[in-house]
Amino acid sequence: MKKKQQSTGYVYSNDLLQYRFSNSHPFNQMRLKLTTELLIDLGYLQNTQFISPRIATDDEIGLIHSYDYIQTIRHASHGILSDNEAKKYGLDGDDTQQFRMMHKHSARIVGGALNLVDQIMTNKITNGCHLGGGLHHSLPGRANGFCIYNDVAIAIKYLMHHYNQRVLCIDTDAHHGDGTQWSFYTNNQVLIYSIHETGKFLFPGSGHYTERGNEEGFGYTVNVPLEPYTEDDSFLEVFKATIEPVIASFKPDIIVSVHGVDIHYLDPLTHMNCTLDVLYQIPYMIKSLADTYTDGKIIMFGGGGYNIWEVVPRAWSHVFLALIGETKPKGQLPEKWINKWQQYAPNPLPQTWTDDRKAYQAIPRRSEISEINMKRAMQVRSWFI
Ligand SMILES: [Zn+2]
Repeated sequence: MKKKQQSTGYVYSNDLLQYRFSNSHPFNQMRLKLTTELLIDLGYLQNTQFISPRIATDDEIGLIHSYDYIQTIRHASHGILSDNEAKKYGLDGDDTQQFRMMHKHSARIVGGALNLVDQIMTNKITNGCHLGGGLHHSLPGRANGFCIYNDVAIAIKYLMHHYNQRVLCIDTDAHHGDGTQWSFYTNNQVLIYSIHETGKFLFPGSGHYTERGNEEGFGYTVNVPLEPYTEDDSFLEVFKATIEPVIASFKPDIIVSVHGVDIHYLDPLTHMNCTLDVLYQIPYMIKSLADTYTDGKIIMFGGGGYNIWEVVPRAWSHVFLALIGETKPKGQLPEKWINKWQQYAPNPLPQTWTDDRKAYQAIPRRSEISEINMKRAMQVRSWFI
C-alpha cells in the first residue's frame, strides 16, 4: 500500500512569548523562539507551516474551566484581584503569579491548540505540534504549576464535542498531568495516560498508579510513576510495556501528546536522568502509534522544560523531527543559530546534537530503579491484556 503523504502544522507567533510570569520565572517561552529558529535554520520548518493562534473565546475556555475562574483571570489581568481571591484561585504563590494581560496571553495558547485541531479535523493537515502549549497542571477552577488555562484538556473536550472524537492523551512530561486527569476523571470517552516521576518528591504529588478514574471513568485514567533518577532504557521499556496495551484496548481516533522535556538530566526542576536520545525515541514511538492506530492523526504539545539553552531547543526539535518522520539529527548545530543566540546565553551553547556526557552522573542504584519501574509497569499492563 502506498504511504499516505502527510503534512504537518506548527503553531507559532511571537505573541506566544508574552505568556510570562516575571523576568526571573523558570517558565520562559523564549525556549519556543529558540526551538523555532533552530528548526528553520536546519531547513526542516518553513514559515508556510505556521498556524497562527487565535484568542480562544470564553465559551471555548469554559469547556473545561468555570466561568468564575475565567472572570478571576480577567481581573488578575488588570491587577484588581483581592488577596483572598488570589488565594482561592491559586494565584497567590511565587509559582503561578498574576501578570498583565494574563487572560489574553493564556487564551491565545488555547486558541493555538484549537486552530490546530480545526486544521487537522478538516483534513488541511495530517498532524501538528504546539510546543508553546501543554499547560497540563491547570485545574477547572484553579491555576496550578505555572499553568493558567489547560489548553490540552480544552483541546480534548473540543475534539469530543465538535468532532465526536475518541481521544487518547499521552503525557510524558516529568510531572504528573494532574489538571488533565482531574478534568476527565469520571469520563469513559477519553483515556488519560501519564508517565512521570513519582509524586513522592515532586510536584504535584499525585499520579499514583492506583489513580485509575472513578465511576464510568474507572479504567480510563492510567498512571505510570517512575522512580527518581530513572534513565533512558528503563523509561523506554516501561513506556513501551504500558502504552501498547493501552492504545490497543482503547482504540482512539486521535492522539494528543504532551512533550515536557524536563525528564532530561540537566533539567533544574526534576530528578530524572534521561538524555536527548530518549527525547527523540519517545515522540518517535508515539508518532508510530499514531500511524498504526489513528491514520497519523496526532497533536504534540510542549510542556515543561526549564534548561532553555542547553536542553529545550534540541529536545523540542527532536519532537518535531520525529513528527515529520525525520531521523535524529547528528553532528553540529547550525552555525547561524549558535552565532545569533550565544550573546544572550548565560553559558556556552551546545555545539552538537548529542549530550555532553561529562555532566552526566552515573546512577549507582540503576538496576534497583529499573526493577521497581518494571514491576509497576507489569501491574498496569495486566489491567489491559
Ligand atoms: Zn513538567
